[in-house]
Amino acid sequence: DIKRAYNFNAGPSALPLSVLEKAQQELIDFRGTGMSIMELSHRSAAYEEVHNQAIAHLKDLMSIPDNYEVLFLQGGASLQFSMIPMNFLGEGKKAGYVMTGSWSEKAFAEAKLFGEVSQAASSKEGKYRRIPRLAEIQFQGDEAYLHLTSNNTIYGTQWKEFPATGNVPLIADMSSDILSKPVDVSKFSMIYAGAQKNLGPSGVTVVIVRKEFLEKANSNIPTMLKYSTHAKNNSLYNTPPTFGIYMLGEVLGWVQEIGGLEEVVRRNEEKAKVIYDAIDNSNGFYIGHAENDSRSLMNITFNLKSEELEKAFLVQAKQEGFIGVNGHRSIGGCRASTYNAVPYESCKAFSEFMEQFQKQNG
Ligand code: PMP
Repeated sequence: DIKRAYNFNAGPSALPLSVLEKAQQELIDFRGTGMSIMELSHRSAAYEEVHNQAIAHLKDLMSIPDNYEVLFLQGGASLQFSMIPMNFLGEGKKAGYVMTGSWSEKAFAEAKLFGEVSQAASSKEGKYRRIPRLAEIQFQGDEAYLHLTSNNTIYGTQWKEFPATGNVPLIADMSSDILSKPVDVSKFSMIYAGAQKNLGPSGVTVVIVRKEFLEKANSNIPTMLKYSTHAKNNSLYNTPPTFGIYMLGEVLGWVQEIGGLEEVVRRNEEKAKVIYDAIDNSNGFYIGHAENDSRSLMNITFNLKSEELEKAFLVQAKQEGFIGVNGHRSIGGCRASTYNAVPYESCKAFSEFMEQFQKQNG
């Protein structure tokens, strides 16, 4: 019997076991083609079916309206930080960014290279412990777009409710919480996400963009960096990351099988609760980083009273088989990432480990 790890990696992260098993089974002979999916032409009918089905599954699962394009790009979410302002900013245009963590900062820094940008709100002062209240968000109404990060992978905060921006197009980096709960896509002009948390392996970036918004994009930019190039060609302008898209399609199939996003969010809430409870019931032994109403269901961040104790906790966690629970290298501390494919059993086992460690060291 294969022993699967208690995988709390922040991304790339756990994938559903059934998807891995199916991929393994199909690896050498993909559906009677006599070759693996990686060896198929991206222009073949067999690949195109995989590609189109992945798009259809995502549209279905997220209830994406017909006036949106679903694109599969490369370069990670990080390239989106540049592509967005390249396509939608420029001389005389400005954009607002809501600052909720390191990834917002990176997105903001890229946009600065292309146009006028301002911070619509920021929670940096409080070490990004919270999501700004909707009333704190300031914009003028003539911005080319407003950008936010729906889940802050490093600080462990998550938006519960999104701002109504009127005529200003709203863009969200959903890299670390896409597909973790139902979301009203029609509120956004664009959503993007690197696949390597909830969607599949790294190498694919999903972009969901409203067609009318695309029409406003700049045309004097490199072909590969134009959204319209990929939209016009069904993300087959050049060779797409075929294996990653295949895996993404299988992960979407798994989400459908288990009951769609309603069931996914129910599971995610249950999983996060068992770990947050261990923090909240610890009499201050564990100190949650995020303010309660900003807590993420995907990345649970916490500290222990001293660096020494934290170090001991992380060493022992690793010994007990809990992988990836060290905080991001930029801020330290502890972090358990409980993405869609992390089973409840892993979360329960980790919370029991936390209780046990406290008993021994409290
Ligand atoms: N945005 C967020 C919220 C992220 O968590 C990450 C990666 N962890 C990125 C952007 C960068 O993604 P990539 O590595 O795919 O460029």
